[in-house]
Amino acid sequence: MPRSVPASDPAPAPFRSIASLLIRRIVALALLCMLLLGGLQAVFEYQRGQKEFARAVHVIAENGVSLLSTALWDIETSAVQRQMQWLVSLPEVGHVRLRAATGPVFEAGKGGYDNIAPAVVLQIPSPRHSGGNSLGTLEIWANTSYFHTQIWTQTAAVVGGYLLITLLICLTAAGVLRRDLQRPLQQIARFAAELKPHNLSLPLTYVRPARGHQDEIDLLVQGFARLQEALRTHIEHLDQLVFERTQQLEELVTEVQELSRTDTLTGCLNRRAMDERLPIELQRSLRYGRDLSVMFADLDYFKRINDGFGHATGDVVLREMAQRYLANLRTPIDWVARYGGEEFIIVLPDCSLEAAVQLAQRLRLLTQSAPVHVAGRELHLTASFGVAQFDRGESAAQLLARADAALYRAKAAGRDRVCQDDFAGTGNTVPACRLTGAE
Ligand code: GH3
Ligand code: MG
Ligand code: MG
Repeated sequence: MPRSVPASDPAPAPFRSIASLLIRRIVALALLCMLLLGGLQAVFEYQRGQKEFARAVHVIAENGVSLLSTALWDIETSAVQRQMQWLVSLPEVGHVRLRAATGPVFEAGKGGYDNIAPAVVLQIPSPRHSGGNSLGTLEIWANTSYFHTQIWTQTAAVVGGYLLITLLICLTAAGVLRRDLQRPLQQIARFAAELKPHNLSLPLTYVRPARGHQDEIDLLVQGFARLQEALRTHIEHLDQLVFERTQQLEELVTEVQELSRTDTLTGCLNRRAMDERLPIELQRSLRYGRDLSVMFADLDYFKRINDGFGHATGDVVLREMAQRYLANLRTPIDWVARYGGEEFIIVLPDCSLEAAVQLAQRLRLLTQSAPVHVAGRELHLTASFGVAQFDRGESAAQLLARADAALYRAKAAGRDRVCQDDFAGTGNTVPACRLTGAE
């Protein structure tokens, strides 16, 4: 079963270069092969030595034995000795001992063979009577040190040559690996580690000697470049997409904000927008020391329209009136908000009470002068107006309350008229109302 590595394991696996791993493997394998080869070579040399010794024995049997036989027959001791010296002069022969049947023993060669049995024992036949009694026996010992030396030197030569070749292969492999694999891979790894989304187009420069061919590293680099390009394009596309989506969202937010501030029926600002905007207008008026007036406009007996012609007709009337008022204002300086049902608040920055009353009169006439046409009917309407000028130090609510009170008075006075609130700035404690209307 594969061992599962915990994701949170912080210790990274130790780094081991592919090149050094490969060289180590080659060296280990080469050493193993060398041991095997050395063993085989030693066995081969041993067998060769055996054959050499057998050949030497054969030569001795062919030539030496007959000469020894003659020398023994003639009792030529010196000749026997010479012959024995000749035998040990053969490199394969270490020691020889001739035991004459008559008793004497002749020996030649190196010492140290006393306790070792001879490798070969040859009978020395009589030179005259073939098939007759043996003149003695010739014991031959192989020259073990010679054969050992042979085995070692030959094996060492082969192993040495093999080692030299292995060394050359390793050096060549290491050079090629280092130049064509290790260095480029390290450069690519460094480059990849430093790559950031903002510098994706940075080209990968890596140092390699000029070649007339391509290899895996070149393919890797080309693949890397393609990946960079694809990522760059993807990120650019994402950037563009994010930019477009952000724009769409911003437009949507503006639209939603606009909608949240607009009265859907009339297209004027709604009550919420007015609550936000009026205090700002008052602040501006204070800052620049300019007049500011507000007026409430309320359609008279509007309920009758709804009751008489239906709510939908009432809606058309409301829309029409809002458009008439908007068309006669200094937009965007002046602005209109639907305060409630059929009641509008008109804010007039940089406008005195007198100018506001004049405007209210104009709007009043505009309301009654032309009927509203709905489904083939002509609806004649009037409206009442309550006007007040902003008094420094009062709040928006106080200003609106004064304008509303003026409207109330205009209604109470018979409708279709304008009532201005004279309380502001007069120091009067009792609100005054001057009515201007139809009469
Ligand atoms: P007044 O002269 O005293 O202002 O009388 P009025 O009938 O105009 O005022 P009232 O406050 O009695 O009635 C206002 C009516 O406006 C009641 C309501 O049905 C109607 N209204 C409020 N909002 C809307 C609307 O969005 N559409 C329509 N069609 N009617 C509305
Ligand atoms: Mg009304
Ligand atoms: Mg009303």
